[in-house]
Amino acid sequence: MKVFVLSQTGIPLMPTTPRRARLWLKAKRACVVRREPFTIQLRVETTTYTQPGTVGVDTGSKTVGLAATANREVVFQAEMYLRTDISGKLTQRRQYRHARRSRKTRYRAPRWADRRRSSGWLPPSLRSKAEATVKAVRFVASILPIDQINVEIGSFDTQKMQNPEVSGVSYQQGQLQGYMLREYLLQKWQRQCAYCQTSGVPLQVEHLIHKSRGGSDRASNLVIACDPCNKRKGTLTAEEFGYAHLQVQARQPLKDAAQVSSIKTAVVKQLAQQFGSERVAVTHGYETKYKRIQMLALPKSHANDAVAIACEMGEIVQPGSSVYQIRCIACGNYQLYNGKRSEHKVWAPKKLHGWKLYELVEAKGQIGYIGGRRVKGAFVVKDVVSGKTLIEVTPRKLRRLSRPVGGWMITRFPVSQIAGKEGGASFPS
Ligand SMILES: [Zn+2]
Repeated sequence: MKVFVLSQTGIPLMPTTPRRARLWLKAKRACVVRREPFTIQLRVETTTYTQPGTVGVDTGSKTVGLAATANREVVFQAEMYLRTDISGKLTQRRQYRHARRSRKTRYRAPRWADRRRSSGWLPPSLRSKAEATVKAVRFVASILPIDQINVEIGSFDTQKMQNPEVSGVSYQQGQLQGYMLREYLLQKWQRQCAYCQTSGVPLQVEHLIHKSRGGSDRASNLVIACDPCNKRKGTLTAEEFGYAHLQVQARQPLKDAAQVSSIKTAVVKQLAQQFGSERVAVTHGYETKYKRIQMLALPKSHANDAVAIACEMGEIVQPGSSVYQIRCIACGNYQLYNGKRSEHKVWAPKKLHGWKLYELVEAKGQIGYIGGRRVKGAFVVKDVVSGKTLIEVTPRKLRRLSRPVGGWMITRFPVSQIAGKEGGASFPS
């Protein structure tokens, strides 16, 4: 674990050890600026020599992985859970406004045909996700010296995969090329077994004409198959196995493989605007996977993917000890009236029995956040990661751990609690 350090003027310096931070605080050479992640600011002038690090961003539509490396060490690791309530809330607001306009101002002419969208327009739900991702990178850059930002934009590099069916890219397990071809094949066969169409199981790269019978390692001889199908097929050719049409299908290259999701495009564009395009680099999923498995030997999780994204090819870093869990939340409740005809004023107080929504609490040995409050009765405590209800307890039993700051609810977990399951084995037939 590291303590983040700001200079007297607020410029991020290299992080330090808890021991040194404790001594500085005791000697009144520093003061605390943030509890989570623990950040101190020096009260005396120092040299501002830094060895800037790299941030890796694993963008996603629900979870974002963030990691910062410096001096061959992971100094910051976080998983951020994005908001998923935007679309529903805007739909509700739109319905209220439509109803109110038709109820109260029927005489006004419709005013929806003259609206125009600007060129870089994103739907509000996606815009929120892109902006939250960029905000998180800005936050990391505010507590750590950063000079490089790596963002993963797709699972494989379309530039390098220009017509892979005819170019010499061949499949070898455990090689960087092999990882790229595997991602390409997964996309080409829609992440399901080519024979039985199962998905959600570990999928393998399978040779249509077996290697022992002269089959090549080119993409035109490869499909994706589940383990049972792969075993049943054995050394048979696809034709003998009863799937002659696959042989034809495999020869056709994947069309329009160049699509990068609009969130990722927006994230890269905004980061380039804010940090300068020379500091933002893009990587691909196959490189991430290769680095995470072959070089760093880390289990699959968004935070570990971000570590792999931050690393250079061949660079080995010491893993961190803790992962921050950041949950994005609404900054406030803007609804003033409710009821079928907006006849009730929303009277819910900001504080109830001294508690606000989204405060991080401990109750009966469980840690969660306040997700619901009742005037007479129990408070609902929900899980930080999943948002599911843990317990309902009376507010007297709660113990406050932290308050939400700037639209974020931050908790810290040891790294061992975070690792998820490994998705998809990669063994060729
Ligand atoms: Zn199958």
